[in-house]
Amino acid sequence: MKKHNFSAGPSILPQEVIKKAADALLNFNGLDLSLIEVSHRSKEFVDVMDKACNLAKELLNLPSGYSVLFLQGGASLEFLRVPYNLLKIDGKAAYLDTGTWSSNAIKEAKTFGNVEVVASSKDKGYNYIPKNYAIPADADYFHCTSNNTIYGTQLKSFPKTNSPLICDMSSDIFSRQLDFSKFDIIYAGAQKNMGPAGTTLIVIKDEILGKSGRKIPSILDYQVHIAKESMFNTPAVFAVYVSMLTLEWLKNLGGIPAIEKLNEAKAALIYAEIDRNPLFKGYSEKEDRSLMNATFNLVDEANKEAFDKLWSTAGISGLKGHRSVGGYRASIYNALPIESVQVLVDAMKQLEKQLS
Ligand SMILES: *Cc1c(COP(=O)(O)O)cnc(C)c1O
Repeated sequence: MKKHNFSAGPSILPQEVIKKAADALLNFNGLDLSLIEVSHRSKEFVDVMDKACNLAKELLNLPSGYSVLFLQGGASLEFLRVPYNLLKIDGKAAYLDTGTWSSNAIKEAKTFGNVEVVASSKDKGYNYIPKNYAIPADADYFHCTSNNTIYGTQLKSFPKTNSPLICDMSSDIFSRQLDFSKFDIIYAGAQKNMGPAGTTLIVIKDEILGKSGRKIPSILDYQVHIAKESMFNTPAVFAVYVSMLTLEWLKNLGGIPAIEKLNEAKAALIYAEIDRNPLFKGYSEKEDRSLMNATFNLVDEANKEAFDKLWSTAGISGLKGHRSVGGYRASIYNALPIESVQVLVDAMKQLEKQLS
């Protein structure tokens, strides 16, 4: 039987998507060729890319004036592509530091120029989201991370600013309703909530580009990729195809409003048990808890062996917390069924019974 997959990334994908992808690996669109052995410029694959971009636009409810790209290099490459395209030579970028990924983005931006960190939650091990900070009016852009995959915190609202709003949504893209037209760039590595590793979704409001005054190498220039419709160089055909299938699956399910309801139900189930069960404690501040990654620890580490045995024999996989936080992390992405969360909750209850 398939495991209950709580992996933080690469992570669970819908079973029907994996089956369709497997079919296309053997015979793509009845061509008697594999998806991974046809030209990315063939009509069949160009259709896949167009469909993936259009589904993303539709699901995010984007107005005109936005471009959608599927590029390579992961979210980590966007940490430097963003300042390369937006940070003026003598300008300044503003960043919110809410975890490892934010601070990696800050580190890259600093190689380009002035960076102001407007607030940080590093003082408390990134277990909360800073609030009431000021964004300098002259910032070339403001960058934040919507969901902190490692610590299990999530921005519930986004600051108002006149600077372009840039967001790393790698681990909560397509999981909840937001006004996506408030953002100027959204980027997300596929492997958390959309597809296999190998491609990054990038959504860009066209009008913010071309103003940095920098000479940008082609492969790092968003305008080049927009003009070439993600085909400046060979795209990650398999990762784009599977992402397209996942977006199709999401659309058929009822889109973001429908999946958000399911995600809220899953999160409510796991957090209720973390709060009820005296053997466990949550890691992040309640008001900032992530709907995607629930982080928690045992109150008494002596129970680790017993609990690990319980969940692993229940068929659960990928529950170990990130090495910088320890404990446990239940990643409950879009494709994870609520039944899997119930299996985890039952294992937590079972530990309590065992010890009483
Ligand atoms: C995983 C993750 C990244 C890193 O993504 P790569 O595709 O490995 O570069 C960046 N940001 C967030 C929020 C993540 O969860």
